Amino acid sequence: MAKHKGRAWHGRLLAAALGVTALAAAASVWTAQADPTRPSKGGDSAAAAAERPVKKVAAEIAHASEAGPRGVNITIDDGPDPVWTPQVLRLLKDEGVKATFCMVGTQAEAYPDLVKKVVADGHRLCNHTVSHDTTMDTKSEAYQSQQILDAERMITKASGGVRSQYYRAPGGAFTPYSRQLAASHGMRPLGWNVDTKDFEHPGADTMVATVKREIAGGPTVLFHDAGGERSETVAALREVLPWLREQGYTFGFPVR
Ligand SMILES: [Zn+2]
Repeated sequence: MAKHKGRAWHGRLLAAALGVTALAAAASVWTAQADPTRPSKGGDSAAAAAERPVKKVAAEIAHASEAGPRGVNITIDDGPDPVWTPQVLRLLKDEGVKATFCMVGTQAEAYPDLVKKVVADGHRLCNHTVSHDTTMDTKSEAYQSQQILDAERMITKASGGVRSQYYRAPGGAFTPYSRQLAASHGMRPLGWNVDTKDFEHPGADTMVATVKREIAGGPTVLFHDAGGERSETVAALREVLPWLREQGYTFGFPVR
C-alpha cells in the first residue's frame, strides 16, 4: 500500500482547485464509447455495464455536497481492506450514513466482495488510480491515462458493473489532463476540505477535534480505511458522526 506523502498535497490541491474551469462547460455531452459491432448482452452483466455510454461530468474539483449547505461528504480512501473496510461499513450502517469510497485499483481487484458490499450498502465509488502514485502529476499523459482507466476497469469489474462516480488523485496530484480524462468518463474530480490526517495516527481525539474545528470551512472530510492500522479512524468516525448530526448536518455525496 502506498503511503501518503504529506504536506505537498495541499498546495497541489489548492493549485488544482483554482485551475481550469472553462473546459467543464460541455458537462452534458454523452460520450459514445460502446462498440456497435458487439451485440448487447442485456443490462445486468458487468461487461454490458462497462460498455454503456457514460455521461460526461464537470472537470473542476468538487467539494460541495449534494445534500446542500448543511451536507457533509464522508470520504474513505485507499481501500478496500479486509480488516478495516468491514468495520467502517458496519459503523456507517449503524449510523445510517452513506459515504464515498475512493478505491485503489489493485485493492478492488484483490477484494471484489468488499467492493460489492460497499455498493450494496448504498455508498458510492470513486477511482483512486491503480497504484496510488502521489507524483502522477509529474508523469506523462500516457501514464496518467493508464492509472485512471485501468483502475476504472478494475473497480467496475470488482463491483459487478457499478462505475466510479468520482476520481480523486492520490495526494491531490491532479492535472488538467487527468481531470478532463476522468470527467469524460463520468468521474467528477473530487477534492477534500477537512483532512483528518488519520494516516499519521494523531489519535482519534485529535481527528475528531480537527473535524469539529474545520467542518464549517467545507463539507468534504477525508478518512482512510486502508494503508495501515485504522482503529483510530473507526473510533473517530464513531464519535464524530453523531456529533455532526447533533449540529444539524446531514450526510450526502459530493456533487457531480
Ligand atoms: Zn489515497
